[in-house]
Amino acid sequence: MEIKKFGVVGAGQMGNGIAQVAAASGLSVLMSDISEQFLARGLASIEKNLGRAVEKGKLAADERAAILGRINTTTDLAAMAEVDFVVEAAVEREDLKFKIFRDLDAACPPAVILATNTSSIPIGRIAAQTGRPEKVIGMHFMNPVPVMKLVEVIRGLATSDATFATTWELCLKFAKTPAEAADYPGFIANRILLPMINEAIYCLFHGVGKPEDIDTVMKLGMNHPMGPLALADLIGLDTCLAIMETLHDGFKDSKYRPCPLLRKYVEAGWLGRKSGRGFYQY
Ligand code: NAD
Repeated sequence: MEIKKFGVVGAGQMGNGIAQVAAASGLSVLMSDISEQFLARGLASIEKNLGRAVEKGKLAADERAAILGRINTTTDLAAMAEVDFVVEAAVEREDLKFKIFRDLDAACPPAVILATNTSSIPIGRIAAQTGRPEKVIGMHFMNPVPVMKLVEVIRGLATSDATFATTWELCLKFAKTPAEAADYPGFIANRILLPMINEAIYCLFHGVGKPEDIDTVMKLGMNHPMGPLALADLIGLDTCLAIMETLHDGFKDSKYRPCPLLRKYVEAGWLGRKSGRGFYQY
């Protein structure tokens, strides 16, 4: 199925990044969020990103204008009725995603594929909220979306081959490299990454090291481009906690218990970069 109009639900750090790469690939994009303020912030982030690319000589100024010109915004989810393919990138809360998928299912024509950028919620569980489980799929981009090459593509139990093929093709159109993962909690990326981040938080909690030392060990000792605590701040500590909860609930294995310090930071509103404070101050 040819995709011309592409919808993104959620204009946060992932949503606006997905909107940017979709528009850069030539698609016409509709990005939604719950308020004009969040949409304006999402658009400003795209403008800044593209502006930086122009300054570095990686993008022509008229191309920047053309990409921005392909992105429209709305606070009305029902406007997704116009698009051919939707990716949901709202906050990582199951109840909220369930409602969004029920609303999208009601709004969009039956042929439209409904993808989710969820980090960890089972695709099958989201698909069951709709009357089109064969058209629901995981399309898990990495952060920051315009930079990171990988997209994990996750089939739910009912996802059709046609839905999978269209989603895979779209990843290639976005100049990304897709990898297929099965529908188990955390898929591949977060099943491996988040327990490592959680363990780094335990090291801080137990006084094994200060944030700078923990991150230095992993950067210089393991050749990671970023330390796990700085990465947690980039991902968002609320998102990290939500993923650990999903792993813990899904496997019922205590090795996935979220560190109490992570929970404490999230309860205090210390969410990392997006709130100005996490393991570091921004
Ligand atoms: P974020 O907090 O930056 O953005 C979420 C956005 O969703 C906000 O702008 C919020 O206003 C909006 N939103 C909330 N309810 C909505 C609704 N009903 N309709 C439309 N928009 C709504 O979060 P994020 O980091 O962009 O994460 C979004 C999703 O992507 C989550 O599912 C997360 O797990 C996943 N994800 C995040 C990362 C990461 O590194 N942060 C990586 C991969 C996947």
